[in-house]
Amino acid sequence: MADPNPVQFGPFESAALADVVASGRLWRGNGTGWGSRHDSAADDSSADRLEDAFAQWIGLPYVHAVNSGTSANEAAVVGLGLEPGDEVICPAACPAFVPFAVLAAGCIPVFADVHPETLLLLPDAVERVASEKTRAVVAVHLWGLPAPMADVLSIARPFGWKVVEDCAQALGTMVADRPVGTFGDACCFSLQQSKHITSGEGGIFATKDPETYTRAVVYSSAGVPHFRFGLPTPRRQPGSVGRGHIGFGHNHRISEMQAAVALAQLSRLDEFNRRRAELVRLLEQELDRRHDAPVRTLKRPSEVSVSYWRYPVLVPAGQGTFKEIPYLEPAFQRMNSQRRTPFGLPLPEYVTYAPGSCPQAERGAAQVRALSVHQSLTDDQLLASLDAMLADLSRLRHVRKP
Ligand SMILES: *Cc1c(COP(=O)(O)O)cnc(C)c1O
Repeated sequence: MADPNPVQFGPFESAALADVVASGRLWRGNGTGWGSRHDSAADDSSADRLEDAFAQWIGLPYVHAVNSGTSANEAAVVGLGLEPGDEVICPAACPAFVPFAVLAAGCIPVFADVHPETLLLLPDAVERVASEKTRAVVAVHLWGLPAPMADVLSIARPFGWKVVEDCAQALGTMVADRPVGTFGDACCFSLQQSKHITSGEGGIFATKDPETYTRAVVYSSAGVPHFRFGLPTPRRQPGSVGRGHIGFGHNHRISEMQAAVALAQLSRLDEFNRRRAELVRLLEQELDRRHDAPVRTLKRPSEVSVSYWRYPVLVPAGQGTFKEIPYLEPAFQRMNSQRRTPFGLPLPEYVTYAPGSCPQAERGAAQVRALSVHQSLTDDQLLASLDAMLADLSRLRHVRKP
């Protein structure tokens, strides 16, 4: 049996946190040149170090750490520089945070249907819901499985649409030896407690484009140009009375405590993902052994190495437990009947959030379940969760019999 007591947080995270508290500096400041008495060019905050380490890890030049994955989604969409009323295509199966970020950016989410087994974006469906106003696509790497980036990019590029990769569930997934997040124009990650690495709450945004980065930073830092990675920071005019809010923004800053814990966790990512891979192997062996169980697994393309967040399986129709079809949420039903976004933007006639509008997503939700393969699980806990799922499926089968 594997390590019976894997710990998610250890002395490493505790020491990182203690260092921050002892330093007396719990926030990262507003960046050099702008009005804060905490500012100092020589200052190297935990947030700075997290961004540098993440840039190194993912191989993208511009990284900005924020206070949640949702904030990172917003930074990514806002960073693209879209206009109010622009349409952004989102998968019909994903957490509501994804289209919420589109709404927050003043844009209109348009849902494209997904593959009924993987629940990943379908390139054909993207083409079907595109309009004159389409400006971007958000691809979500659900469960850790990579969305079909090559197809999505080949649809998007001829029209000049931007592509965001939501990697909140896929930290460490590689396609042909490249980490997901490096294929599109911007990417976002979550550091919420259930994700691969965590600081409780937190998020990371990354891009190769300096303008996308600076727009995202201004939005996430209450309009203050806290630019890093050698980009010039606009200087305050001598005699200016303001703090220097050069644009509109929210305060989505990450705290130094969160950044220090996230940095410690990032250094353990390989260790965590090795354990996740071990749990996936055990789960697949076990499912193989119980091949009479009414559960099917999904095939993985050979060029893909999946860093699973949860492990999805196919179960008989009606016995799935997937809940994340955003347009079925009351929030979207309300928009659908009011024909406007929460910020008052009218919805074009052809945009609908009506139940049934993405039938494969709804069919898929009813036949997909997912098992946690979190690195903190013991082998026994994993097998117990499989047993519990199989018992539940068998109970449902008996209930159905007349
Ligand atoms: C978790 C998650 C988010 C949101 O992250 P938070 O840190 O919870 O705000 C966004 N997208 C996906 C796909 C997620 O799994």
